Amino acid sequence: MSRIHKLPDNLVNRISAGEVVERPASALKEIMENSIDAKSTKIIVELELGGIKQIKITDNGNGIQSDDLTLALDRHATSKLSHEDDLYTVMTLGFRGEGLASIASVSRFNLTSKFNNSNVAYKISSQFGVISDVIPAALNYGTMIEVNELYHNIPARKKFLKSETTEYSHCKSVFERLALSNPNIACELIHNNKIIYKLPEQDLLQRAAMIFGDDYAKHYFTLLETQVDGFSISGYVYHPSYIAKSKGVQYVYVNGRYVKDRVILNAIKQGFSGVLHHEHSPEYILFIEIDPGDVDVNVHPTKSEVRFKDSGGVHSFISRSLRKVLAGNIQSNDSIPDISESSLPNNINYPPTNIVKQWLPDEFITNNNSYSPIANSHISNAQELFVDNYNVNNNSSSNMNMPLLGFAIAQLHGVYILSQTKEGLIVVDMHAAHERVILEKLKQQYDEDIIPAQQLLIPSQISISSLLQDVAIRHKNELIKLGFAYDMIEPEQLSITMIPLLLDVNKADNLILNVLNELVKYGNSNALAEHQEELLSTMACHCAVRANRQLSLPEMNALLREMEITDRAGYCNHGRPTWFRLSMHELDNMFMRGK
Ligand code: ADP
Ligand code: MG
Repeated sequence: MSRIHKLPDNLVNRISAGEVVERPASALKEIMENSIDAKSTKIIVELELGGIKQIKITDNGNGIQSDDLTLALDRHATSKLSHEDDLYTVMTLGFRGEGLASIASVSRFNLTSKFNNSNVAYKISSQFGVISDVIPAALNYGTMIEVNELYHNIPARKKFLKSETTEYSHCKSVFERLALSNPNIACELIHNNKIIYKLPEQDLLQRAAMIFGDDYAKHYFTLLETQVDGFSISGYVYHPSYIAKSKGVQYVYVNGRYVKDRVILNAIKQGFSGVLHHEHSPEYILFIEIDPGDVDVNVHPTKSEVRFKDSGGVHSFISRSLRKVLAGNIQSNDSIPDISESSLPNNINYPPTNIVKQWLPDEFITNNNSYSPIANSHISNAQELFVDNYNVNNNSSSNMNMPLLGFAIAQLHGVYILSQTKEGLIVVDMHAAHERVILEKLKQQYDEDIIPAQQLLIPSQISISSLLQDVAIRHKNELIKLGFAYDMIEPEQLSITMIPLLLDVNKADNLILNVLNELVKYGNSNALAEHQEELLSTMACHCAVRANRQLSLPEMNALLREMEITDRAGYCNHGRPTWFRLSMHELDNMFMRGK
């Protein structure tokens, strides 16, 4: 072995390039981030062969002074940090000063830039790390960077590049991530001369719609939570019921930087628990802002990992915020009109408590203001008369009074409720919806310590195993909180004396066996506190109407009214949707009416 010596700069750059510039997409990320840090309002990305042949980025940012061009390609040269303390306040995407140096050492690299107040642009080039002199060049504004033949000088490394398609898809993801977090910057992506994205300056929702599809951006909840100590979270959470057509929209940014972090992912998962079907993954675009001193972004050269000073606090804040927003009534942000106080006429008290009586089923006729293509022409004479009468009696307030989930018109195969609404039809999964309504009620009653119970006139006696008997004895006092009371009359014989009021007396035996079995499963003595939601969920499932039970129209309407005022009514206790809507417009399309 030879003596220890310092490596030449060029070699150091190449070694570090291995960390920073893994593939064309990582070079793209470094360069786009520089354009963002330079306050550009427009960035154009052109790729050839998935970025393997060329990555060209043009921005209109504030440019680099000619005297600084050589330095820009130097390792650890940056305009973004000066003191160690700056590391704890850094708000720019870059700060390590190694991006350009790394890229320039492993490509044929050209950087042309025109500094803000300068009349002339200047260019510097690098042939795999051999840097040229700075020369005058032509460029109207901003900075243009070309990266050609990445890793051509390091065949061993080049071998690791994948096909054009794969490298392109990585580049596209990088572009999308940065475009999404900077909707105020116009961004274009061109691949092999084909325009992939041409995104104007817009707001986040418009940008999300342009990247993931118009339809996709219709069903979401808006998140905006701030904690006293300056910690905040904002963005969009997609409606769990629409996630089936998954596009993998899972974006988290900490202080504007896209990150993948276990603490955050776990908090999001918890936030969605109970409202998302287990086969689906949550979808979201979240921006977390935190004091830069409370988060370390300098964990990895690509800065995609972070460490929080107080990761427990971050975790609970995120999951709490998500739970809160997802608990919003089904109306929130969905295309159904908002029922917040402000959107209601002053004289209407929402929810109208006597609405079911007020709206008997046979009074059921749509006010045709809300839907014109079919109205008039297809209503029979008798109906027309009725509509007239109706309009006279109720005049324009009728439309306002139309509840959001409309009025039941029929029950389908004992499973679904069909309901006519202002815009069309709603189909409700009766059992799933009822189950959610009951669960939310039970949860509220449990929190308020008042699950109302009914004393059984004739106690119900059941035989149980010795295992269940143990649990029954151990949890007797806690189960009173859930509305159950019982006595051991002899070994392995339980006499049930009281059950929750919401529960059908005939189902009591079965339910208590289920609850006891669940307690066995959870084992420890804290089972009730820790698994409260699961236990209440089991109870709700037993209390909810079963398929094949005939419901009368008033009963169905009563359920619809309950749903309207129940948190999380859009999904059942297992995360399946409880209802969906077919608008007249969609129905017209199906029948090609008006085409
Ligand atoms: P860092 O971004 O960590 O500072 P880089 O090597 O990526 O390091 O860039 C070095 C410096 O070059 C930056 O600090 C910045 O001053 C300048 N720079 C790079 N790209 C641009 C750009 N598109 N517009 C203006 N300045 C730039
Ligand atoms: Mg940089």
